[in-house]
Amino acid sequence: MLFEKITLIDENFDVKENMFVATEKDKIAYISQLPPQKDYGQKICGKNKLLTNGWFNCHTHLPMTLLRGYAENLKLQDWLNTKVFPFEAKMNEEDVYYAALLGIAEMFRFGTVSATEMYFHPLSILEAAKKAGIKLNLCTGTTEFGDGGLKDNKNFNEELDLHERCSKMGNDKIKADFSLHSEYITTEKIVKELGEYLKGKNERVHVHVSETKKETDECIARHGLTPTAYLEKCGIMNAKVNAAHSVWLTDEDLSIYKANGVTAVHNPMSNLKLGSGFARIEKMLEMGINVALGTDGVASNNNFNLFEDLRFAAIMHNPLNENYSVINPKTLVKMGTLNGAYSQDRCDCGCIKEGNKADFAIYDLNEVSMKPCHNLLNSFVYSMPGGAVLMTVVDGEIVYGNGKFTTIDIDDVIRKTEQSRKRILSEI
Ligand SMILES: [Zn+2]
Repeated sequence: MLFEKITLIDENFDVKENMFVATEKDKIAYISQLPPQKDYGQKICGKNKLLTNGWFNCHTHLPMTLLRGYAENLKLQDWLNTKVFPFEAKMNEEDVYYAALLGIAEMFRFGTVSATEMYFHPLSILEAAKKAGIKLNLCTGTTEFGDGGLKDNKNFNEELDLHERCSKMGNDKIKADFSLHSEYITTEKIVKELGEYLKGKNERVHVHVSETKKETDECIARHGLTPTAYLEKCGIMNAKVNAAHSVWLTDEDLSIYKANGVTAVHNPMSNLKLGSGFARIEKMLEMGINVALGTDGVASNNNFNLFEDLRFAAIMHNPLNENYSVINPKTLVKMGTLNGAYSQDRCDCGCIKEGNKADFAIYDLNEVSMKPCHNLLNSFVYSMPGGAVLMTVVDGEIVYGNGKFTTIDIDDVIRKTEQSRKRILSEI
């Protein structure tokens, strides 16, 4: 594929106009102001179009699409205990498969190419991701309520199985991570055993950290430590950690993040919706902590349009901060792309550069919300509607284009998820 005379956001997150961008197999093969000598096949006119790296959504629960709009106007603990957990208890493997496909379709619709996913029935999600062609880092969200050890833990064993399956797939499009759901629904025994297991291994752990004040206060009451300090004490920092939410962090917690290369995954919409609080994003960025973006599940968002999170991240911290310039458009686009790729160990992804994986989205610059345009990067972050995505490409494959999903039978998926929704409600 060759895009001719297209505007792009380059590897330094600067805007360049009238560029030629070609893909070959799964890679970006050519970027220049001059047309290539070589024939790259199909030619696409780039006039009034913007090409940017696709989004990396780094904290998701894909199958929660089934709960979209089901539980509103509740605080997190009530939301979880009275609505989410009873509904999820009725979700079977088939429900999870189709709900995950629906979520992936929504991601493609809004230019997302990769997700860091945590949910149960992981094999159903693995199959959905393989069918759809999304990049995915997958884990189960390990929980432990009893006094069992790690080797008998169902989630841990599922993750070992995922590691084996992913390593046999012959590419790194889908990767297995390890996980802890959180401090509050695991035991110290199991967290320590996981820390010990991870020693000397080059693994990633996905975990909810200090999402709410209540969670943080209760952890301090239980262990005498913040969730971050507790995870460090238990050896979890032996792994590379993706810490979802990271809202109630102390200065010491931030130092632990910095010292251990923890990625803080900012979930602005979810944090506002559930009243969780304001993560210290400016401070993290000033300290050089890697900050990525996530939507969380759509029950707490309520969609997979990462643009909205980008925009909320851009403005929600202003009332608390003197300096409005730290979270600027360039930084935000980087948070939604390159920082996310880093947090998934995808070193050839996350920005538009020759040799990188061809993961990008094409936007319509004729959108009325983009007119007039003083500064394209500003307008991209503050004005571009997610619906302006014309095409989403993962590893050189068009997964969404001309209003159609090429890998997902969306009518069937909508039909199946509606059947699941009705059945589950009838069983609760
Ligand atoms: Zn979550």
